[in-house]
Amino acid sequence: MKETVTITVKPEQEKNTKLIEKLVLSQVKNRGSKRTLVFCKRSVDARHGQVKLHLRYDVYIDEEPPALQTKLPVWKKADGKHTVVIIGSGPAGLFGALKLLEYGIKPIIIERGPDTTQRRKDIALISKEDFVNAESNYCFGEGGAGTFSDGKLYTRSNKRGDISSILQIFHAFGADEKILTDAHPHIGTDRLPKIINAMRDKIIELGGEVRFNTKCTDFIVENGHVKGVVAGTEIPADAVLLATGHSATDIYMMLAKIAPKALEMKTFAMGVRVEHPRQVIDQLQYHGKQNQEGGQNLGAAEYRVTTQVDGRGVYSFCMCPGGFVVPSASGPDEIVVNGMSAAARNSKWSNAAIVVETRPEDIPSTFLDQAKKLGSADLAGLLFRTKLEQDAKSNGNGQAAPAQLLTDFLANKKTPPENLPATSYTPGIVSSNLNDWLPPQIAEKLAQGIRQIDQNMKGFICPQALMIAPETRTSTPVRILRNKETFECTEIKGLYPAGEGSGYAGGIVSSAMDGENAAKAIACVLK
Ligand SMILES: Cc1cc2nc3c(=O)[nH]c(=O)nc-3n(C[C@H](O)[C@H](O)[C@H](O)COP(=O)(O)OP(=O)(O)OC[C@H]3O[C@@H](n4cnc5c(N)ncnc54)[C@H](O)[C@@H]3O)c2cc1C
Repeated sequence: MKETVTITVKPEQEKNTKLIEKLVLSQVKNRGSKRTLVFCKRSVDARHGQVKLHLRYDVYIDEEPPALQTKLPVWKKADGKHTVVIIGSGPAGLFGALKLLEYGIKPIIIERGPDTTQRRKDIALISKEDFVNAESNYCFGEGGAGTFSDGKLYTRSNKRGDISSILQIFHAFGADEKILTDAHPHIGTDRLPKIINAMRDKIIELGGEVRFNTKCTDFIVENGHVKGVVAGTEIPADAVLLATGHSATDIYMMLAKIAPKALEMKTFAMGVRVEHPRQVIDQLQYHGKQNQEGGQNLGAAEYRVTTQVDGRGVYSFCMCPGGFVVPSASGPDEIVVNGMSAAARNSKWSNAAIVVETRPEDIPSTFLDQAKKLGSADLAGLLFRTKLEQDAKSNGNGQAAPAQLLTDFLANKKTPPENLPATSYTPGIVSSNLNDWLPPQIAEKLAQGIRQIDQNMKGFICPQALMIAPETRTSTPVRILRNKETFECTEIKGLYPAGEGSGYAGGIVSSAMDGENAAKAIACVLK
């Protein structure tokens, strides 16, 4: 018999195992003769002026707890009867490949970028030499956009699949056990590459293939059915899993030409990264208690804020406590910022995107006209995004990003360059009045939204807060339509769009689950 119990303790009590056991057992209804405590979940609750920890335990009464690994799938050697080409080695592609191997189906992953070792060197060049390699950057290369990220693994897409099974797989490939119990698990950019490498090695060991520096430039389509892809050479396939993420503009352009009806404009969000000294956020969230006895257990503080302005959401996204703002452009002519952190989350700063919901009806008509000329009006959001990224480049300097003190943004005045604070963004920042070039519907809602956010999180607006722009890649502006049940593209048979680029998922875990689901749908057809 099992009972689940949640207790609430002060941070300084967390390591007091005797007290914890006593508190848990005091809540267990059935006595039995043997009771075994299994720790399940830890969450930090800093609301209402007090910091508390909620600890959840499963208590097994007169029975043995199950082994942790029970949820790991059984992968088989590829039997060679069928081949599925997976375009992209991000979470959707990798988890899709592993899912196919549960059925013994051979995946060939083609990835436009290099492996993590080369990718790391290319990423270093962005800050050192101001050079963005269009095939190897924060978005492209082994592991996709998730490799050099914070590796936050929480998602609200419970309906998509079994989140804990994704966490178990990450753990099996080397992620810390803590991800299985933290309410907000994260891996850290310093640990992710090795985990991704281990997943790739497993896929190859089981008879799959992973081909780096191999970019899909066309689909081979016969009578409305995809027969393979062109990637240097022609690669035949029984099915194609399209997991190219939301930065692969060329893939959307390709689809606009061959199957424009497969595209649909969707709501997305754009805005800025706001960076505070970590101490400021810790102080706000932990009510000044971070440095008291036991406070060090809490780690860098997180926040999540959301509000509405004129019917549009203004909210924080991808908050990186103790993290870095990073240059995540996927080409040399644009500036895009994002955030990441190491496992220890111990940098001097904490940052988050603050973005404004952008609906199809918010896209200026000039982008619709341009998009039509490219084959599909549904590319308009993508073109709007690109324009903002290019405007940022012309208002910055190389990859040095336009930036402004938050207080100056609200006062609509340029920050004197000497007043710009130190930042974690290594390519550097350039003083710019963001109000002058951010689209007005974004700048105005951002200003109003941030004022509202400060009402709930007093001190968010402070002299040290810095805005770095633009944050444009929170989700894709265009969806690749697919059948709800079969996951097959509505316009091209045998093509399975999945992950963030498909418009049906967002974030590491939800994209991984979506890749799994699409792969399972493929297996149902092939087996
Ligand atoms: C800096 C940063 C930090 C992030 N932090 C987090 C976080 O902490 N938590 C979280 O949940 N999410 C985070 N994200 C978002 C997350 O990484 C994505 O949601 C996730 O990676 C999407 O997975 P995916 O497999 O769908 O696509 P992607 O990860 O984007 O992978 C797509 C892959 O396809 C490849 N590709 C594209 N076009 C082609 C082509 N034509 N031929 C061959 N290959 C191609 C790309 O090179 C890429 O490797 C972050 C993103 C960034 C950039």
